[in-house]
Parts: sequence; structure tokens; C-alpha cells
Amino acid sequence: MEETGRKSVVLIVDDDPVTRMLMRQSLKTIDLDIHEASNGLEAIAAFNLYKPDMTLLDVSMPGMDGFDCCEKLRQLPRGQECAIVMVTSLDEVEDIERAFQVGATDFMTKPLKWPLFNHRVKYVLKANRTLQELSLNKNKLAKAQSIAHLVYWEWDYQADSIECSADMFDMLGLTREKKLTLKRLLTVIHPDDRNRFMRTVRLAIKDKKPYDIEYRVQRPDGHMLFVNERTDINFEYGQWRIVGTLHDITALKQSEQEITYYAYYDTLTELPNRRLFIEQLETTIASARRHQRRFTLMFLDLDRFKHVNDTYGHHVGDELLCQAATRIRECVRDSDLVAKITLESDNRVARLAGDEFTVLLDDVDHVDDIAEIANRLIESFSEPFVIGGAPLYVTVSIGITVFPTDGHNVQVLLQHADVAMYHAKQVGRNNYQFFSESMNNYLKLRMEMEHDLRIALREEQFELYYQPQYHARSETIVGFEALLRWRHPVKGLLTPDSFIDIAESTGLILPIGDWVLMQACQQVYQWQQELGCAYRVAINLSALQFNQNYLPERVRQTLEQTRLPAETLELEITETAMLHDVAETIPLLFALKKTGVRLAIDDFGTGYSSMSYLKNFPIDTLKIDKSFVEEIVFNRKDAAIAQTIVQLAHNLNLSTIAEGVETEAQAQMLLDMGCEEFQGFYFNKPMAVEELSDLLKHD
Ligand code: C2E
Ligand code: MG
Ligand code: MG
Repeated sequence: MEETGRKSVVLIVDDDPVTRMLMRQSLKTIDLDIHEASNGLEAIAAFNLYKPDMTLLDVSMPGMDGFDCCEKLRQLPRGQECAIVMVTSLDEVEDIERAFQVGATDFMTKPLKWPLFNHRVKYVLKANRTLQELSLNKNKLAKAQSIAHLVYWEWDYQADSIECSADMFDMLGLTREKKLTLKRLLTVIHPDDRNRFMRTVRLAIKDKKPYDIEYRVQRPDGHMLFVNERTDINFEYGQWRIVGTLHDITALKQSEQEITYYAYYDTLTELPNRRLFIEQLETTIASARRHQRRFTLMFLDLDRFKHVNDTYGHHVGDELLCQAATRIRECVRDSDLVAKITLESDNRVARLAGDEFTVLLDDVDHVDDIAEIANRLIESFSEPFVIGGAPLYVTVSIGITVFPTDGHNVQVLLQHADVAMYHAKQVGRNNYQFFSESMNNYLKLRMEMEHDLRIALREEQFELYYQPQYHARSETIVGFEALLRWRHPVKGLLTPDSFIDIAESTGLILPIGDWVLMQACQQVYQWQQELGCAYRVAINLSALQFNQNYLPERVRQTLEQTRLPAETLELEITETAMLHDVAETIPLLFALKKTGVRLAIDDFGTGYSSMSYLKNFPIDTLKIDKSFVEEIVFNRKDAAIAQTIVQLAHNLNLSTIAEGVETEAQAQMLLDMGCEEFQGFYFNKPMAVEELSDLLKHD
């Protein structure tokens, strides 16, 4: 009896050693593992030890009799899995009844009929094994079904009777006492799914074809499930019946819903994302068109958010975005003004990307109302955001468009709102702007210009002009200021006024500035070599360039590469650029100074009037702005300012250069004041390289 790799174990319990020996002898022909016990107590011990598959238990034993023993064995671990056959010498009906009462599997009577004995034992063992396997499989199946949230049912639809596992009642939240019928099942099917369910079932019955359907179960306890029902339809015992499984797919549905949720909602702020926003805007446009209504779209962008992110790190930036989202949402939550809005209140605000938000006010179109909401939004940012216990001040710029005046479709409306927002930034941030066509024209121009500038860089459309600088007394050339020109393929030669702002705001001034530095150093080194003169070259630095920490290193490298002596390079920086952040300026100026170059303050006198910083800066030259020079001869005030600048410079050991000198009278006056150098049309205009080369050679 070795079917599953293990010999069957049989325990013989009898107080009579002869019976035990005879049984063992008889069972010899079967491959069994046999153990013996001579009384109840021994039987229990042996049972625990050998865990028999079958026990042959004598009924009448001294001490604990067979019945007591059987009862005890059944309570032991694995006691239910063993086949216990009671062996009784009396052919008494009561004994047999009692044997079954105490849990015996079967019985035999003494004297045993030996030729049959072996067959009995074999049969009992086999039956028991089958039973065990069945129960094991049943358990496994039940377990598997419960893991898979799967239940099984059979429906005799002519009698309307559904046979199902207990699990199905649990799944549906129904009590097991009452039978399940179609009518009862319908009570828990979600009302919105009932008709579809019934149609499917009727069709299946009519066509004798199985069906597969998903529906919702609304349990009496309020719980809602999603289930998948799969079926088969059979003809058995002269009856049609549908058999099927019900699969609880709620978890699956939930993760499916979660996936859809995050396809439409921003994970950080939980606001609708760009995708949902665009869909909503499309719907709103369609509906506004149908009803000939107007609506408002606001485009919000946090001011200097990048700075927050760079300075405090992304976790602070993220937290700020969440708090900002909440404030924006609060502002447009139902109030007297926006109560009429039909969009679901929480979906009016969306996060488009980064620090960009939109507010869709689908029934607000009156300018005063819009302005009030915009003001409220601006106002809500006036309080600091508290992040990690520290207050953080961030403002917001808002651009506003109204449908259909400012745009007929998603793209134009959004683009114009963006233009208006950009304008709000331009005029100082922390404000709102309604879109206007002129803004749009400006932006178009700006975008074209940016595009052209990129091409200019790539196709080397920039040139440097040089304007000589003269020693005041001897009127000899001491150096040049390099001035940027753009040879535009269509517009001709452009001066910096027309493009430097855009180059700065787009950051393109950085590569352009690098080019200027390299170009000027190369050119002037060449003149120095050719003419044997230590000419100086001044180049202009934009505020943005001046803020780059790598600037000193870039200057050093350029000098090294072009071999221009450091003291013949002068960097012109405006007051405004220097004073933007004095704490950062001072170390940077010293780092620049360490490369050996000269530093000049350009347009001096036009920026901050405070001169106290001058003595702390390692400056060599002040450039008197041309606005003072222009009127110097006739305007006593301008003359006084120029005079003060020269005196101040001398006190601080700085040299002065006057720019914009156009007449002899101006030059004379400045000379009398003690100004050391001149630059201006009186001497030369800025010149192209060849022209200046000629001039220098004949000088
Ligand atoms: P800036 O540095 O003050 O340059 C002097 C400006 O005055 C130049 O204008 C020059 O052509 C002009 N100018 C010179 N002499 C006279 C004169 O006698 N009368 C009058 N009315 N003007 C005179 P430009 O070349 O148009 O440059 C304008 C500004 O653009 C410069 O002012 C400077 O701030 C900026 N810039 C020029 N080149 C560069 C550059 O390579 N990089 C940067 N970042 N800015 C530059
Ligand atoms: Mg300059
Ligand atoms: Mg200047």
C-alpha cells in the first residue's frame, strides 16, 4: 500500500497477544507499517507517535475500553484523519451503534474471517485515503477560491433555485438562511446595472448560450463591489441549468480607477492636471458656444518659484506648490460671486505644469467680478507660506482671457492667458493683467526676435565695433570700448538698444557675452602686436553675466587663450548690476580683480545716488554718463554733477572717463575739471575693425 511514497501505517490495539500476532501475520502480504498496543493508554501513546492511517481497535479491553479509547483518539491531532475500525467479539447491535457514536469509521466482528480480513483492511485504507485527498482538495479549492475572490453557483432557472457556496452569500452580503433566487439576487445588483443584467440573462436562456458580464453589487451593509460573472449553460437530468462563477474584481477596478485618476490628476497637489484641464476647457467652450455665453480663464504663475526651488530645495518647493494650490482653490470655492459656476467646485483649479495654475470660471464674465476674484487671489498670497516653521513670501502673477473675445479655441485662449500673465510679470509681478491685442503683438515681436537671435549666434551675424578712448591732454588713443552690433539679414545693422533686453531676458546674453569677450581680446591683442602699443579694451558686462559665478574663471581662461595682458582688459559694469546684491557683488568683484583686469563703473551717476559703497569696491575707473556730458556746457547742474564725480574719483584714487563727448566745448570743460579720458563722437564714432585698423595705422 504505497501510493504516495509512504507506507500506510496500521495500529493494532488488542489486549490479547494472540489476536495481535494473528492480525500481523495475516497482514504480512500487504506492505504495511504495523504497530501494536495492548491497552487504551498504550494505544494513545502509539497513536501520537506513529500517526496511523488506520487503527484496529478491540472493543473489550481491561481498563479503558475500545469506545472510550476511540473517543480519545478522535480528539488527538490528526485524530479525524485516521480510519478507526472497531473489532468486537459480540455481534450486538448496540455495540455497533455505540461504535459509530464514538466516531468509528467501520467495525468488524470476531472471530475474524482471515481470508476477508486483508481485503477489508485494504479497502478501508483506500477509502480513507480517497476521502482524505478529497477533503484536502476541497479545502485547497475553497482556499484558492477565497484567495481569488471567486465563488461558484448553479442555477436551475426553471425552478428558479440557485445552489451556491456559503462564500457567495458572504460575498453578496446576504444571509444564508434563505435560499438564493434570481429575485433575491436582483435586490443586491446595483439599480443602474439591473436592466443590463436581466437582458443578458434572458438572451442567454433564449439562445442557450453562456454569458460573461460585469456588474456592481450593492450590499445591504452599504458596501459596493464590482463582480465579473462567467457562465456555462448545460442540459443535465432533463433540465437546463446555468452554472457559473462570480469573481469579486473590486480591487482590480479600484486600481484601474486609481490609474485613471492619476492620468487626470496631479499627484502632488491632487488638482486636475493639464489633460483634464484641456478636456474641461473644451467642454466649457462647446457649452458656452451653444448657449452663447462668455467665460473666464485665468493663468497663474508663482513669482520667483525657481528661486525658492534652487535655494531651499525641491521638498520646500513641492510643499509650497501644495499650499499655493490650496489657497487658489479656497479663493474660487463657492462664494457669492462664483456660486453660479456650474463646474464642480474642486475642478475649477488645475495645475498645468511646474508653478503654473489655471482657474476656469465658467459663468463669470463681468470685468468687475473677474477683477474681484483676481484681487482676492493676489491678496491670498500676501500672507507668508509657512514651511518647516519658517515663513516664505511668494507672490503670484495672473493673466486673464475671456471667451470668446480673447480666443475661440483652447489653444488661443490659453496662449493669450499666458501672454497676459507674462505681461503681468513684466510690469513688476504680483498683479493681474487682462489680455489685449497689443500685448500679443509685443509678444510676437519678442518671440520672433528671440528666434532670430538664436540664428544670429549660430550663423555669426554679430560684429564688434570699437570706439576709441582718448587721453584728455595729449589727445592720443589709449584704448577702445567694444560695442556689439548685429548685422541682421533683413533689418540691416542693429545697435544693442533694439535687442539687448531680449537677449538678457532669454539668457542668450550669456553665450553672446562669451563671444564678445573672446572676440575683443583677440582683436585688441592683434592690434597691440601689429602696432606695438599697449592699447586697452573695455567690454560691457550685462547684469546677468555679472551674476554668473563662473565669470572670473571665464575671464582668466580667455586672457590665457588670447594672450592679452590682463591689465589691458577693462570690464564695464553698471551701477544697477553691482548694487543688485551687494553681499554677493563684493567677493565677485574681488575675484574678477584677482585676474588682473581693470574694473569700471559704466553710466556712472544714473543709478543709485549712494556713493558710500565705492570705497569698498576694487574699482579703477568711473565712466561719467553721457547724459551729464550732453548739457554740461549750458546746464550748471549737470556741470556741478560732473565736477563732483571727478573730485570724488580723485579722492578715491580712481580715474575718470567721460563718454558721449560730442563737442570741443564739452571736451574743454571736462579737461578743466580734471577728467582724464574722453570717448565720443567729437573724436570718433564706434568703428568697424578695418576702418579702425586704417585709422590706427595712420595715427
Ligand atoms: P554704453 O556702454 O554706455 O556705450 C556707450 C554708448 O554710447 C554706445 O552706444 C555708443 O555708441 C554711444 N556713444 C558713444 N559716443 C557717443 C556720443 O558722442 N554721443 C552719443 N549720443 N552716443 C555716443 P551703443 O553702441 O548703441 O550701445 C548701447 C549700450 O548697449 C551700451 O551703452 C551698453 O550698455 C550696451 N552694450 C553695447 N555692447 C554691449 C555688449 O557687448 N554687451 C553688453 N552686455 N552690452 C553692450
Ligand atoms: Mg559701456
Ligand atoms: Mg555708458
